[in-house]
Amino acid sequence: MHVVVIGAGLGGLAAAVAADRAGHTVTVLERAPALRETGAGIGIMPNGVLALDALGLGAPVRAQAGPLDAGGGMRDRHGRPLLTADLAAVRERIGAPVVVVRRSWLHGLLVDALAPGTALTDTPVTALRDAGDHVELRTGGGPVHADAVVVADGARSRLRAGLLPGHPGLAGSGEFAARAIAPAPPTGVALPVGELVDHRTGDRFGCLPLADGGVYWYATWHDPAPADPTQRHRWLRERRAGWHPAAVALVDATPADTVHVVETAQLVHPLPTLAIGRVALLGDAAHAMTPDLGQGACQAFEDAVTLGALLDGTSAADVPAALREYDALRGPRTSALQRECRRMHRLLGLTGWRGRLRDALLGCVPRALAVRSLAAQYRFTPPRGGSMSGWRARENEQSRS
Ligand SMILES: Cc1cc2nc3c(=O)[nH]c(=O)nc-3n(C[C@H](O)[C@H](O)[C@H](O)COP(=O)(O)OP(=O)(O)OC[C@H]3O[C@@H](n4cnc5c(N)ncnc54)[C@H](O)[C@@H]3O)c2cc1C
Repeated sequence: MHVVVIGAGLGGLAAAVAADRAGHTVTVLERAPALRETGAGIGIMPNGVLALDALGLGAPVRAQAGPLDAGGGMRDRHGRPLLTADLAAVRERIGAPVVVVRRSWLHGLLVDALAPGTALTDTPVTALRDAGDHVELRTGGGPVHADAVVVADGARSRLRAGLLPGHPGLAGSGEFAARAIAPAPPTGVALPVGELVDHRTGDRFGCLPLADGGVYWYATWHDPAPADPTQRHRWLRERRAGWHPAAVALVDATPADTVHVVETAQLVHPLPTLAIGRVALLGDAAHAMTPDLGQGACQAFEDAVTLGALLDGTSAADVPAALREYDALRGPRTSALQRECRRMHRLLGLTGWRGRLRDALLGCVPRALAVRSLAAQYRFTPPRGGSMSGWRARENEQSRS
């Protein structure tokens, strides 16, 4: 069976790996001229690690774990803990750690898991037509036929609008996020690992150490910032004056032109379905959410593993039924997280007395309760054990040779 994936972001590539592991012929169509990922670092939550395990990519990801087990959680802007996330306890319960990595590394890991030539760049898909027994895709380079199509063209998906024309689509959150990697932790100050929140403005600053010695940091704000990168860098630094000294030190240690800035965005209304005939939506195209829970890519990985398991052993005739099951399994999980993300976004954006009250209440959450609720969010069991026949066959072949 021929599975075509549209988009070579983290979600699309994971879906391609899953379809390949399920024994199908896979083509990834990417509109950009090169395969690459921007955005500095990324947190892979334990459910994301479990999904990557099912794709056979868990070991190198787990090898990047470590620096976070000792800390994490919410802090005030001075770095004083508000709510400590005991990630070692969560790891023990779930059987997987939280891992923070460079996005480029994770993207490369997924690209390398595919046979050379699987992903075609400079190939935008402009339209899809479900012909009943196959799907026809219109691309810059001529038509392509597929038995199943995975639409993974990101939060601003144009194809989604064509498939579900009644849906209102993506909405900006009004919050901006800068992300970068400082080459090393600041000297002379302890790193306040986790997320610092300012109840005066709703600004946040995250400090997450990487296994290679770098520090992934991000800053969020709501007001307009200068458009020029150098001026914005200065503005960011000044805005963090009076915070924990590591915040300013990390901004200072990072070249302005390596900082990525975006307005975060979400699908406020979950899609009515993630599957239309032979076409499945996956990743941000299916359930874009603000980054407040660090679940966007992790949900894409869960989508991918679920899809791979359901397409395993499926013939072209059974694709619509398999995709209906995909929707039934993934819809409730992802729409619950979209709702939870909006709730968290509102909570973390509270300012004034409401923000102070939030900080005080966070300080009262018992550690065991925090561990239990994180563990509930991070649980993921792939359908059919996530075991895919193409993957098993290849493993057997490798062990025989
Ligand atoms: C500030 C911030 C922090 C985040 N932090 C985390 C985190 O810590 N953990 C986490 O799990 N998630 C996080 N996320 C979310 C995560 O980045 C996304 O959920 C994830 O990258 C989405 O991947 P995707 O493949 O679905 O979409 P994308 O990465 O957007 O990829 C879509 C791809 O499709 C291509 N494309 C678009 N249109 C077409 C077309 N017509 N034809 C062919 N190709 C096309 C694009 O060029 C692109 O390569 C964060 C997001 C933000 C904004």
